[in-house]
Amino acid sequence: MDHLIYCRRQVDTGSPVSTPATSPDTDGSTPVYLCQSPSCPEQFSRWQDRDRHLLKHLPHWIHCPLLDCQWRGNRRNVFLKHWEAKHSRHSGDTPGSSEFTIYDPKVFIDSIRNRTISVHETAEIALYLVYAKANQLQKLSLLINPWGRRSN
Ligand SMILES: [Zn+2]
Ligand SMILES: [Zn+2]
Repeated sequence: MDHLIYCRRQVDTGSPVSTPATSPDTDGSTPVYLCQSPSCPEQFSRWQDRDRHLLKHLPHWIHCPLLDCQWRGNRRNVFLKHWEAKHSRHSGDTPGSSEFTIYDPKVFIDSIRNRTISVHETAEIALYLVYAKANQLQKLSLLINPWGRRSN
C-alpha cells in the first residue's frame, strides 16, 4: 500500500499552511491549480502540470505487454524506449496502445478535474482495472504490484 505513504508523505505538522495567495505583483489573475487529493499540498501554476501530477495518485496505466516483463510506467514514450531497448527485434514490432494500456488515464483525470469523482475513488477504480487486466492476461506481476511502482 505504498500509495498511502505517498499521499501522506507530507505530514501535517500543525503549523499554518501557506494558502495560495493571490499574487499582488502580477495582474492579480495568476491561477493556482491545486492537487485535488485532500491529503496532498501540491499546487501548480499550469493545469497541465497539475494533471500530470494527478497521475502520481493513480496506478501506472502502462504495462509492458510481455507476460514475464514487470515494466510499468505512465509515459508512452518511456514505454516505447523500454520496448526498443529490451524487446525490439526489428523496427515495426512495437505493440499497439491497446496492448500496453491498462486504462485510459485521460478519462480519469477529466473526471477528477470536473470533480465528478474523488482522487481516492478514481485510484480504486484504476486498481480494479489493473486487477482485471492481470486476470485477463494471467499476469502475476500486475497482481503482486498493482500500483506498478518500485518500493525501493
Ligand atoms: Zn497530489
Ligand atoms: Zn518489457
